[in-house]
Amino acid sequence: MLTGIHILLTFMCNEACDHCFVFSGPNAKGTFTLSQLRTVLDEATKLGTVESVYFEGGEPFLFYPTMIEGMRSARSKGLKVGLVTNAYYATSEEDAELWLRPLYEMGVSDLSVSDDSFHFGKEKDNPAKRALAAAKKLGLPASSICIGKPTVKAGIDKKKDKGVPVVGGGVIFRGRAVEKLLEGLPRRPGEDFTECPHEDLKEPKRVHLDAYGNVHLCQGLSMGNMWQTPLSELVSNYSADSHPICGPLAEGGPLLLAKEYNLEHQGEYVDACHFCYLLRLTLLSRFPEYLTPRQVYGLE
Ligand code: SF4
Repeated sequence: MLTGIHILLTFMCNEACDHCFVFSGPNAKGTFTLSQLRTVLDEATKLGTVESVYFEGGEPFLFYPTMIEGMRSARSKGLKVGLVTNAYYATSEEDAELWLRPLYEMGVSDLSVSDDSFHFGKEKDNPAKRALAAAKKLGLPASSICIGKPTVKAGIDKKKDKGVPVVGGGVIFRGRAVEKLLEGLPRRPGEDFTECPHEDLKEPKRVHLDAYGNVHLCQGLSMGNMWQTPLSELVSNYSADSHPICGPLAEGGPLLLAKEYNLEHQGEYVDACHFCYLLRLTLLSRFPEYLTPRQVYGLE
């Protein structure tokens, strides 16, 4: 039962962080129009189960008027609205208030602000902190998201991980993180990765939507295209078992995906997502309608 949709309002971002799993950056294309947003919200409402809509990116504030109208439209349908931002516009607390006041006035229920070393290095007074202070002053519910650079620590106290080095910091190894952040990290054999650790591919509670129409179950892994088949129909008819990538992933993780398509799996990987992402890269041309858009794999 789908309860949340996450709208990737744009892939464009003023930053190009090393850990970004959709390869966002200043030149990234793919931005929703207002009319596309209205279509999505109408379709989400038709499902009758969706309670909340998040606006994310990229950096959604780069398209501020469209974002605001989209959020208003979602609120008018009785949906809870949240958003994720890097707060680049918070040049001062007073200025941040200007940008955030309309959100407070329309009853946005969550502002998540990226506040970590990927975005701001070690700066103490940074835009995220200013935006969080402004949100607090307005009474707008807000919190920070903090992803650290990958660190290596002793294995957690679970049988299978005991004594094995694990990678901390919260980075998920897909997208640009695979290109930029793997060096020096401990790896494990492909045979270890027999489940998808982060997404419920059988009964997804949320999906991410992009302006090309892709309905992502995980970034770059699409259920189908909502500009070809309406979102409500796609979601109602979805079954992991008949999806060529989600089926094996849901049943036996990246290892089963590799076996299903006779792909190399003798290598070593930092985590399940790293393994899964590399497998998906080799399957891109075989399943272009499901492994898309190519730009989230760092390709043209
Ligand atoms: S294992 Fe694959 S599908 Fe699951 S969360 Fe990781 S990258 Fe996504």
